[in-house]
Amino acid sequence: MLYYHIYIAGVPRLKEQSMRLCAALCLIALPAAAEVPTVVTDIVPVQSLVAQVMGDLGQPVLLLERGADEHDFQLRPSQMQAIADADLIVWIGPQLTPWLDRARASSRAVQLGLLEAPGTQVQPYSDASGHADHDHSGIDPHVWLNPDNAARWLPLIADQLSAADPANAGAYAANAAAAATQLTALDRDIAAALAPAANEPFVTYHNAYGYFAAHYGLTFAGSLADGEAADPGAAHLTELREQLRAQNVRCVFPEAQHDPALAAQLLDGTSSRLGGALDPVGSTLDPGPQAYGALMHGLADVVMACLRG
Ligand SMILES: [Zn+2]
Repeated sequence: MLYYHIYIAGVPRLKEQSMRLCAALCLIALPAAAEVPTVVTDIVPVQSLVAQVMGDLGQPVLLLERGADEHDFQLRPSQMQAIADADLIVWIGPQLTPWLDRARASSRAVQLGLLEAPGTQVQPYSDASGHADHDHSGIDPHVWLNPDNAARWLPLIADQLSAADPANAGAYAANAAAAATQLTALDRDIAAALAPAANEPFVTYHNAYGYFAAHYGLTFAGSLADGEAADPGAAHLTELREQLRAQNVRCVFPEAQHDPALAAQLLDGTSSRLGGALDPVGSTLDPGPQAYGALMHGLADVVMACLRG
């Protein structure tokens, strides 16, 4: 209080001048003073795309932890706080991560839901088995496995970052353009690698590969579990075993977060082979700019090792 008083009394003219100066300049200076936004993301592939657009300017927070199931996760209190404090949340949507849908409601952050973003290509869950005891009528939320969607999202992410941080808009746009160029090359490489396996039917543990199979022309014959990663019942197993034989399914792929025993059990009495574990959400990968490419190459490598091995 004393210091304040002395200051006012001692330099009244300086204070008046600086207030007049501020009245003239402070409004103009505001946009440049905006900072790189704090960004929270749901899963590794989304974190990776945002990291590519942010480049050296910042690192998006990743919520889903290593080895966790994207459909069923429990946020820690520190993560709830990060969501509450974020400037921007980039996520797929409540269809994939209901645990984030609840938490985001209390956040002041701008939210970019990619599943419902304009231009995102969506499709229903694919399940060739056509069994009647499960509901597969919903939209498949594993939309990042179509790289056309990833390419669509890069400029949308850049737009949201630029709206929060106009001073760096040029950098965000340039980073997004560079990432799109890399994505085109990645897509071309994977399409070439997978082409020889186009007519080899396969089954997976997790119903997550509709987009990947459709984009690359693969023959996805069904899944053991539903999209929400529930374990299949005995009736579904019997049905799938019949399907393996009828459709000459070459490979059954377990999932990185789940015990492969179920897939192995399914193979009893069939000529199908057990493939390596697929990791569609990048739960075994380090997050960062390179993770999206590593995820897509990883899927292609595991699929090819069994289908053409
Ligand atoms: Zn999933």
